[in-house]
Amino acid sequence: MISGRNGTRSAVVIGAGIGGLTAAVALHRIGWDVTVLERSPVITEVGAGLTLWPNAIRTLGVLGLEATVSAHAIPTVSRGNIRQPDGRWLRHGRPDDVGVLAIHRAQLHEVLRGALPQRSVRTGADVVEVTDHEHGATTAYIASGEPHELTADLVVAADGLNSASRQRLFPDHPAPVFQHRTVWRGVTEPDAAWPVQECITLGRGEQVGLLPLTDHRVYWFLTVNAERPGLRSDDEHAEARRRIAHWHEPIPSVVDATRPERVLHNDIVDLDPLPAFVRRHTALLGDAAHAMTPDLGQGACQAIEDAVVLADHLAGEAAVPAALAAYDRHRRARTQLIARTARQSNARNADDSAVAHALTALAVRLVPPGLWRRSTARWADWTPPTAISAIGSR
Ligand SMILES: Cc1cc2nc3c(=O)[nH]c(=O)nc-3n(C[C@H](O)[C@H](O)[C@H](O)COP(=O)(O)OP(=O)(O)OC[C@H]3O[C@@H](n4cnc5c(N)ncnc54)[C@H](O)[C@@H]3O)c2cc1C
Repeated sequence: MISGRNGTRSAVVIGAGIGGLTAAVALHRIGWDVTVLERSPVITEVGAGLTLWPNAIRTLGVLGLEATVSAHAIPTVSRGNIRQPDGRWLRHGRPDDVGVLAIHRAQLHEVLRGALPQRSVRTGADVVEVTDHEHGATTAYIASGEPHELTADLVVAADGLNSASRQRLFPDHPAPVFQHRTVWRGVTEPDAAWPVQECITLGRGEQVGLLPLTDHRVYWFLTVNAERPGLRSDDEHAEARRRIAHWHEPIPSVVDATRPERVLHNDIVDLDPLPAFVRRHTALLGDAAHAMTPDLGQGACQAIEDAVVLADHLAGEAAVPAALAAYDRHRRARTQLIARTARQSNARNADDSAVAHALTALAVRLVPPGLWRRSTARWADWTPPTAISAIGSR
């Protein structure tokens, strides 16, 4: 066994996204010595909002972070309020709809980072190679132009959608798949468009979401169909404004109230199911393992679940490969089912025929509340195994 600084077991986490940081916190909680290597000089992808579903909120609770995260979030009812582009209401949220937290990504990152010792996260550290040995793995990385190496009992590869770790472990696995959709996202400046009621507006093959955040900001997204990946405009803010110019208020006002340089534009891609999430001393986690379309709002939530389940198996099993095999058994079926459901939901949302739009509007009006709630229960009702609750108290 390779020892950390205090004779404890050690891990290198590749990537300081939500998945990597949560994994680092969970491992730190079970007493491991953790180093997070993040390629960016500053942590990226923090410029928009996120919904955290009850499964993720409970899991953050296991790490003792639920109250801190909630303090930075606005409780809301996801997919409760549904409108049409002309403003007509299809459905009003009900108290028994599934409650979620809307949070600015930067704030979630801050909470997770704050739960780690300062020295744990090295930014500007680009991992270029991981070599597995009989008793651990060595990670080679470049920082400030210099090569470095770290040897640890475990490598957690949380290096995101285009994970090089995944490519190293599964070189024949297909690259992420473009799902013929593209999405603009932004967050308004404080008080620039406020107050705003949370809603999702369903157009023909197009959807807009508005979610109030703390500090009187609003997170918005606009999802549309796209023939090819990589179609970009010189001014993404102007392009998003043009596309929703005739949609109901406050959508145009909210998009207007966003600083142009803060508008993000991403194509929607996901990953075909991997044959395994682990190999010996390396575990894939989060988007690296199971990138999914954002239709269910579960990508980061699943990364959070992964992190705590991984730590739980490592806490209960001395041999890393055995613990990772258990993690793989525990996580792969669930996350791949959710990714498949998200892909199907993406395909339904992409249908821009008048018939599909009318049928969706009818279904939204007629589906009974119990069925509405149950449609999300498969992922939202998940609870971390009770054994894990010991983690928070260590
Ligand atoms: C439009 C949209 C809306 C979404 N909404 C939601 C939502 O409401 N709720 C939800 O749960 N999920 C949502 N998601 C999904 C969510 O954003 C992702 O699932 C989640 O951020 C994945 O986190 P991660 O840590 O696995 O990967 P990432 O956030 O991609 O982090 C990977 C990190 O690894 C670093 N890295 C990569 N390669 C290296 C290397 N070689 N060396 C060092 N560092 C490296 C990267 O710089 C990055 O910081 C949404 C996604 C999209 C696109």
